[in-house]
Amino acid sequence: MRFDRVVKGGNVVTPAGAFVGDVGITGEKIAALGTDLDATGAQVVDARGHHVLPGVLDVHVHLALPFMGAVSADDYVSGTRAGARGGVTTLIDFAIPYKGDSLSAAVDNWHKKAEGNALFDYTFHVCVTRWNEHKDQIRGMVDRGFTTFKEFMIYASEGWQADDRAMYGTLEKMREYGTMLLVHAESARVLDELIERHHTPEMMKKYGARLHPMTRPNFIEAEAIQRAVQWSEATGGQLYIVHMSTGEGADIIKAAQARGVPVIAETCVQYLVLDDSVFDREDGHLFACCPQVKKPKDVERLWKGLKSGEVSVVSTDTCTFNCEQKAMWKGDWTKIPMGLPGLETLLPLAYTRGVLEGRLTLDEMCAKLSTNPAKIMGLYPRKGAIQVGADADLAIIHPATKHTVVPSQMETNADWSPYDGWDLAGFARTTISRGEVIVSDYKVVGRQGRGQWLPRTFAGLEGTTGEMSAMRLSRGPLSPLRLEDLKAAGIA
Ligand SMILES: [Zn+2]
Repeated sequence: MRFDRVVKGGNVVTPAGAFVGDVGITGEKIAALGTDLDATGAQVVDARGHHVLPGVLDVHVHLALPFMGAVSADDYVSGTRAGARGGVTTLIDFAIPYKGDSLSAAVDNWHKKAEGNALFDYTFHVCVTRWNEHKDQIRGMVDRGFTTFKEFMIYASEGWQADDRAMYGTLEKMREYGTMLLVHAESARVLDELIERHHTPEMMKKYGARLHPMTRPNFIEAEAIQRAVQWSEATGGQLYIVHMSTGEGADIIKAAQARGVPVIAETCVQYLVLDDSVFDREDGHLFACCPQVKKPKDVERLWKGLKSGEVSVVSTDTCTFNCEQKAMWKGDWTKIPMGLPGLETLLPLAYTRGVLEGRLTLDEMCAKLSTNPAKIMGLYPRKGAIQVGADADLAIIHPATKHTVVPSQMETNADWSPYDGWDLAGFARTTISRGEVIVSDYKVVGRQGRGQWLPRTFAGLEGTTGEMSAMRLSRGPLSPLRLEDLKAAGIA
């Protein structure tokens, strides 16, 4: 067999386990896995002494998003360059309708942001922000290849908020179509009350950015997750809790999954490596994101949830604002553009703090960063695993070599980093996207605009074709994904 490219001699992580050997690539696809593939006439990528991982899917990203009076500073060029350097080869952004927009118009708008700019592949979750107008447009979006929808339980001021009626109705449709609803779960009414009580010149002078965590106690997230889970349980519609940040949330998800509720939870890497002591810093306002990072006990509980299975995915919620944009707060925490840079450091943080510090195995990390998100978002088996027939999307990392995070040397447009000065292993020495090298020797070499939109036909635990039966909750937690289950489902 002849290959266009052969990745030689790495520790290759596959759904069936890791082996030291080669990945043969023909065109955009993985054509063979083996221990001594013939590289005659092929371009050889030397991976000796490195881990060869499936490319990372960051399924929670906001690029060039107008939000809180600013536009997030990473667009499809800088965002995908940053992602590539961190081994990301697929991202999912959120298409949000602006005033008066249909769902279709929102998606068209997001296509324009991405086309001709992205270095690697992408698609969008479709945000349902005005139920009465949008409810009859959901089916049409499924027909256009979008199978994940999003609702926000907060953000009335942005015109994005969904109420219980909208969530209930959307989940009914998700059940009917075999699609999935993503929910930002925070309890809006009590949150508004707590913010109003603290929004005084005296309090702001005294506490500054610390009012951000002070006005968002854990029950704000827990109550909202509980309520969303209730609607999922009542309707049977598939639910995905985005950016879960609390230990209470993990407990609720674990109990719901045990009852057979079709709910999946995602956390973001910042909730695994930071806690709210960052708000005591002089530059603490920079760390405002929504929801905010929580307490050390939440951090510990989320790692445990990844290990035991109730937390299925790690993403970033990338929404970059630079120092000048963050400075818009002028002492009022309710005016800080909320969000953090993330695409570039997802894999390095998960690898360094997860794998190197013994919290996850390498296989488990790949499940949470690649295989699970691909399956859950309806992109498997094209994405998410190193196996014959899949897109040749690979992240090649050195097991130990660390790089210090220096904001001025990064690809992101952020001029600061939550991880400034941290020494992290796991930056991609080489990133391959659909067979093309887009990062070489830690430098981005990929061509802007080569990324493609990814159409989908299903999402979540069930899918519409039955091929996702390995994901049924009745068969236990989602991760680690087992080869027997994949074989049983005919997809291994
Ligand atoms: Zn988000």
